[in-house]
Amino acid sequence: MSAVFANSTLSHLVRAETFVGTLQNVQHGIPVRLNVAERLWAAWYSYMNNDVLATGLLFFLLHEVIVLLSHFLVEAIPIWTFHPLCEKLGISVQVPFPHWKKIALEIGLFFLGEDMWHYWVHRFLHYGVFYKYIHKQHHRYAAPFGMAAEYAHPMETLILGFGTVGMPMAYVLYTGDLHLFTLCLWISLRLFQAVDSHSGYDFPWSLNKFLPFWAGAEHHDLHHHYFIGNYASSFRWWDYTMDTEAGPEAKLAREERMKNTANRGLKKTS
Ligand SMILES: [Zn+2]
Ligand SMILES: [Zn+2]
Repeated sequence: MSAVFANSTLSHLVRAETFVGTLQNVQHGIPVRLNVAERLWAAWYSYMNNDVLATGLLFFLLHEVIVLLSHFLVEAIPIWTFHPLCEKLGISVQVPFPHWKKIALEIGLFFLGEDMWHYWVHRFLHYGVFYKYIHKQHHRYAAPFGMAAEYAHPMETLILGFGTVGMPMAYVLYTGDLHLFTLCLWISLRLFQAVDSHSGYDFPWSLNKFLPFWAGAEHHDLHHHYFIGNYASSFRWWDYTMDTEAGPEAKLAREERMKNTANRGLKKTS
């Protein structure tokens, strides 16, 4: 029995076989004056005859309708303009797909390009106002988890996202030859990389165990922990060569290097 009416027997009285039937009963058969929204509301709860299910379904439907609306209104623009853009740029959808070696080479190139872009722009985002107004949001989690990869200011998504979308665009503008399948694969792998680096899990089978230059979760965890250093996304070489590695071990190594250079300088002058 529903608790939609103060007098609980009312909902039992108006309940019919169908929702429309229940609505008609609510309209004509009850002593309480209700407006249209209240009548629909009362009919829904009386017809369902199970408040848990009625509220659950209502919120489920509400969520779906809002998501659908936002898909139609907001995302319709990128959805309908993407293919024409691909055609203009020369991104192909033809079969057969390119040779796997070509796909692997292109994805490798995009990884290299994105990593370079990410390193410099991310480092830049750690300065003063850029950090305060843009990047700080992403750093709300000192110990990140997978989904935190996507938690960022829209401006940041746009600027750093350029590395993911802009690299293939620049590539196809230059070569005039790229397959949409390669692009899909690249975006999936890049998303996987971002979630992996924020997962906080450093498994024995994590990629950095086989490729020592792969950044992985351990590398980016230190960035979130110390707020400084380890700016690159996929590889370790930019932080290594620019001396921006994060964490106590890197700090020790840096101090050791500085000591050695100072000693060498002393020896030369003595
Ligand atoms: Zn950062
Ligand atoms: Zn992060």
